[in-house]
Amino acid sequence: MSINQTRSVSNSRVKVIPARHRTSRNVENYDGQKKKIAAYARVSTMEEHQSGSYELQVEYYTDYIQQNPAWELYKVFADEGITGTSTKNRAGFLEMIEDAKAGKIDYIITKSISRFARNTLDCLSTVRMLKNLPKPCGIYFEKENLDTLDSKSELFLTILSSMAQEESRSISENTKWGVQKRFSQGKPHIPTTYFLGYDTDEEGEIFIDEAQAEIVRRIYKDLLDGRGTPTIAKNLTKEGLKTARGNKTWTSDAVYKILRNEKYMGHCLAQKSVTVDFLTHKRVRNKDHQPQYFIRNTHPAIISEEDWYAVQEELDRRNKMLRDPDEKYRMCYSGISPFSNRLFCGECGRPVTRRRMTSTRKGQKYYFTTWHCRAACKRDKKFQDCNSQYVWEASLEIEFMKVLYELKQDKENLIADVNEAVDECSLTEVEEARLQELENQIDRVSDQISQLSEREMATHDPLYEANLRHLIYEQEILQMEHDGLYKNKQESIYLQKNLEMLIGYLYLVPKVDTKFNSETFVKTIERVIVYKDHEVEFIFKCGAKRTVTAKRPK
Ligand SMILES: [Zn+2]
Repeated sequence: MSINQTRSVSNSRVKVIPARHRTSRNVENYDGQKKKIAAYARVSTMEEHQSGSYELQVEYYTDYIQQNPAWELYKVFADEGITGTSTKNRAGFLEMIEDAKAGKIDYIITKSISRFARNTLDCLSTVRMLKNLPKPCGIYFEKENLDTLDSKSELFLTILSSMAQEESRSISENTKWGVQKRFSQGKPHIPTTYFLGYDTDEEGEIFIDEAQAEIVRRIYKDLLDGRGTPTIAKNLTKEGLKTARGNKTWTSDAVYKILRNEKYMGHCLAQKSVTVDFLTHKRVRNKDHQPQYFIRNTHPAIISEEDWYAVQEELDRRNKMLRDPDEKYRMCYSGISPFSNRLFCGECGRPVTRRRMTSTRKGQKYYFTTWHCRAACKRDKKFQDCNSQYVWEASLEIEFMKVLYELKQDKENLIADVNEAVDECSLTEVEEARLQELENQIDRVSDQISQLSEREMATHDPLYEANLRHLIYEQEILQMEHDGLYKNKQESIYLQKNLEMLIGYLYLVPKVDTKFNSETFVKTIERVIVYKDHEVEFIFKCGAKRTVTAKRPK
């Protein structure tokens, strides 16, 4: 049985009080009494450190505590020793803990974890002990915005306890943690030597190399215009543009990597490699099991956040689209024909590919182009289990233009349909506010991380590391929630934008038999499903769908 359970049995008051009331430091106690707040400070021994003097600290905390009508200042406790990790002088600390044990204090407010205790074990045992008193005493760490009676602090305590465990096991001075090193200069190090679009000045500041940045912008634009990475690579090579390494040959992979690099929107995804193993201190490559987090606005952006996310979505769509149902192979997004990689079999789900066919009419041999399921045309020896028929390319073209003409005639319904889909994924007012709040929170945590990392660390203080780690986890959690909302928001923006684009293209269709326009097709169509009996479904990027019969052309 845990201590908590024991307490709730012996103390019925605790049992009936909801956790959030019991743990809220900002309101009066349940019995209506003001909360008795103590402050703990580390003060400077050097006169010239005015801001660290005892008087100023007392003044600061008196003010701080008086601002809250539910609070009452109990006492400001202080010990000497403001620098680094020297927490030897503890007379004030020990006196304070005695008072807390005697039930005289509800909360202790202190600047930061590292100022509070000698080491992780010390901090953890104090936190736990105070928490589990018959009349619990919380600690509020200002800098970390951490309330030990808050349920959210549990994660932190877990991390702290794993560190304490390690500390007791090893007294090695060399406990190093990858992140500490990484952040020792305040900012993550971004090498720019082979990083297209950026360069570094003498002071190590990153700046945009305009000539290279143009290439980056163009790559992003080309992709959003419907080109595939192999085509983009081919064009760049043809034009004699150089890669970051000075090569004249561009590969599809190099283009892909540029498109996937979050640094182009000015953020940095850090903690790609970090020491996680407390026992072996082995530096291991960070895969999915470790938190990765954005440090926002670490350097100037070349691509807007909106465009960057739009590109990620487009790449994800293509990846999904090009994967066959058996996930055995992936086709290359070449974009040679407007129909390439956009047609799929409605019977078996596999890609529909182009086929040149010959026939004779009145003794005359002639060619025509069709689109046929990969499995049904027996091209792939492994998959021959589909019997769908081919469709004529010419009739696909005719039918597409007919659909556009119909959409033009029936614009009101089209707009209503799409708006319904947009409504489904767009954010409510509350969600929108939450997204904004999350962005602010992430910025705040990022600031805390960089502030923390700017601090000179003479020794490897485990509390510092635990603290940093806590912030990283916090940022990770915030980022996850943020990305979920942001994705929905992007989806609704995507649909809306594509509706506008489609409506724009409808003006190019003055009559039902307008000549096929491949640009319109590429820009507006997400995919086309070819069913049996020449039934064809056009699925537009804005979410609208239309089914037609693509009969043999005359
Ligand atoms: Zn098929």
